[in-house]
Formats: sequence, C-alpha cells, structure tokens
Amino acid sequence: MKRILVTGGAGFLGSHLCDRLRAQGHEVVCVDNFHTGSKANIAHLLGDPAFEMIRHDVTEPLYLQVDQIFNLACPASPVYYQADPIHTMKTSVLGAINALGLSRRTGARNLLASTSEVYGDPLVHPQPESYWGNVNPHGLRSCYDEGKRSAESLYFDYRRRHQLPVKIVRIFNTYGPRMQPDDGRVVSNFILQALKEQPITIFGDGSQTRSFCYVDDLIDGFLRMMETPDDQIGPVNLGNPEEHTMVEIAELVRELTGSRSKLVFADLPADDPKRRKPDISLARKTLNWQPTVSLETGLGRTIAYFEWLLSHPDEPFAAPAVTLQERASEVRA
Ligand code: NAD
Ligand code: UDP
Ligand code: UDP
Repeated sequence: MKRILVTGGAGFLGSHLCDRLRAQGHEVVCVDNFHTGSKANIAHLLGDPAFEMIRHDVTEPLYLQVDQIFNLACPASPVYYQADPIHTMKTSVLGAINALGLSRRTGARNLLASTSEVYGDPLVHPQPESYWGNVNPHGLRSCYDEGKRSAESLYFDYRRRHQLPVKIVRIFNTYGPRMQPDDGRVVSNFILQALKEQPITIFGDGSQTRSFCYVDDLIDGFLRMMETPDDQIGPVNLGNPEEHTMVEIAELVRELTGSRSKLVFADLPADDPKRRKPDISLARKTLNWQPTVSLETGLGRTIAYFEWLLSHPDEPFAAPAVTLQERASEVRA
C-alpha cells in the first residue's frame, strides 16, 4: 500500500483515478482548488479514512510525504482554461515545478497528465509521440497548449538534472460520467442538448474529427504507465484511435438518447484543430495497453449519468458515484 498524491483529484479524470487507487488499497491524498472540479465528484470518498482531501492551489508550494504523484491539476476545457489564461499557464508551469520539487524532496514517482494539444493543429496524421506539433504560441489556446509543453520540458529537465523518476502521458479526448455539465465539451454538450430536446450545436461544418476514449480505459493506461521502470519516461499517447467527425457524434448521441433534437451549425472557435487521432503503437508495445470500451457502451454510461443529474437537480452530492465498493468489484471482475 502506497500513499499517492493526485493533484486535480476532484476533477473528472482525477476523481476516477482516486476511486481506482482506493480500490487497489492505496492511501490517497487529493489536492484540488475546486476551480473546475467539484466536491460531488469525491463526496462518496470523504468518509473513507484512507482518503484525504486538501483544498489547495498547486501554484503554491506544498509539503507532504508521498510515494507517488499523479499531476492532473489544470482546467481541461477551453471554456474554463480561457477564462483566466494567465492562471492556466501558472497552474501548468508553477504546478509542475512544485510537484517536481516535492518529488525531488521525497523521491516520489511523478506522472504528468499532458495532452494531445501539444500537437496543436497537427500536420501529421495520426499523431505519433515523435511529432513535435504545430502550435500557435500566442493564440487563445496557447495558455493551455504552451503551458503543457512547458510542463513536459520541466519534467525532462528535472529528469536530466536530478534523475527524478518522472513519466509523461499525452491524453487525447476522454469522456465519461462526471464530465462537467457546463464545461462546453462536445460530448457533454451533445448529450445534454439531446436529453433536453434542444438543438445540437455543431461548430463549423462538423467535418472536424476527434477520437474519444472512455475514462476507465484511460485510467487503466495511467496506472500501467506509473508501474513502468524508472527509465521509461514517455511521453506516451493515451487515447482511442477510432476517429469520428462531430456530425457522426451528434447523430450517434441522438440515436442513443432517442432524441428528436435538430442539428444546428455555429461558428468554429479559433484554432480549433481539424483532425485529431492518436497513434498508440507505443502504448500498445510498452504498456500492453489499448482501449476496450466501445463508443456506444461508453456513451451509454455517460448518457445514464447525465440523465440522473437532470432528474435530481437538488441532489448533486448523491450523484450516482461509482462507489468504492462497486468500483472495487468492477476492478476485481
Ligand atoms: P477537470 O477540469 O475536470 O479537472 C482538473 C482538476 O484540476 C479540477 O478538479 C480543478 O479544480 C483542478 N485544478 C485546476 N487548477 C488547479 C490549481 N491551480 N490548483 C489545484 N487544482 C486545480 O479536467 P479533466 O478532464 O479531469 O483533466 C485532468 C487533467 O487531464 C488535466 O491536466 C488536463 O489537462 C488533462 N487532459 C484531459 C483531457 C480530457 O479529455 N479530459 C485531455 C487531455 C488532457
Ligand atoms: N516544493 C514543494 N514541496 C516540496 C519541495 C519543494 O512545493 O516538498 C516546491 C518549492 O517551493 C520549490 C519548488 O518546489 O520552489 C521547486 O523545488 P526545487 O527543489 O526544484 O527548487 P528550489 O527549492 O531550489 O527552488
Ligand atoms: N464542438 C461542437 N459543438 C459543441 C462543442 C464542441 O461541435 O457544442 C466541437 C469543437 O469545435 C471541436 C470538437 O467538438 O471541434 C471537440 O471539442 P471539445 O471542446 O470537446 O474538445 P477539444 O477541442 O479540446 O478537442
């Protein structure tokens, strides 16, 4: 049993990671400033003596004794990371420095949640880790993209300078229960619009593509990466290589929800990448990992979550959290 720090642990991915680590029997320290995360995501863990929640902004130093660090703190949706772009950059850069300083003092393994956005609007398709990307350094997305690129750079420098056991995963679009309803991501928007019989908003002509990974698959990749030998740093892509246009996603969501919502077209946001699809050969080879949950199954579970939220507007803390017991039996099965 290890003591494991999850920064951003009250967020969408972080809360699923906390669940999985507790199911494996580890002690979990969750650090979050609740900027985009929520207490509802971790409410079911709060009475657990092996789970500790610390409200803290990772741009400030933090002194703890831990064996491993999963560094996830950072708003992930364009709506939120663009709301305060300077703080987004500080979160990635100062958050990385503080997490690395903590590793340096404790010797803790340290895994950075980086992003496919380091490839920008890619000119190489699908994107392998060896591609250096096509990023606008001063556009609306650059606080996030360049922040994560700087964090990757810091992880490598701390490795070279201080021999720290660091690891980097590059996450491609991931979805599932506990995505925030209002963060403007395509999967949550389309599902909520379909369930409310409102028009489904497609940005641009909807021919742009993304590849969507279900959250449980992604967390499995995180855990495998953390267990690799010290000299396996990455970066390694984690995502689902099955590529879809936004029109296809809208139609699938409409079909799965039985909705009669119309598709409407709106302006494409600035610097919106046209295509994105991970090359996951490296993860297949070095982690023996690939996604297993189909888009239909994953969307079905996500739709069930949002249906519950819509039908229980006054009970956010009782959201159908995959409880520790349920999650534990799922992991054992
Ligand atoms: P999220 O917004 O749900 O979670 C991020 C968490 O970090 C939130 O709980 C938020 O409150 C917390 N946070 C933000 N700034 C903080 C700060 N300064 N101090 C402390 N806590 C802070 O997003 P997510 O989808 O769970 O993303 C988690 C990580 O994975 C992020 O680093 C993100 O960049 C990365 N990622 C996610 C995706 C995806 O598709 N979900 C894709 C690529 C990368
Ligand atoms: N730090 C931290 N927790 C620790 C150790 C360090 O938050 O347990 C922070 C500390 O504030 C420092 C940063 O991590 O600014 C980087 O630490 P490092 O040892 O690399 O640098 P230095 O202390 O020399 O600036
Ligand atoms: N998108 C859309 N309608 C929406 C929200 C998003 O068509 O209501 C598009 C968006 O323009 C982008 C894609 O869906 O092309 C994925 O957007 P998201 O914000 O989920 O992820 P990211 O752009 O970070 O990959």
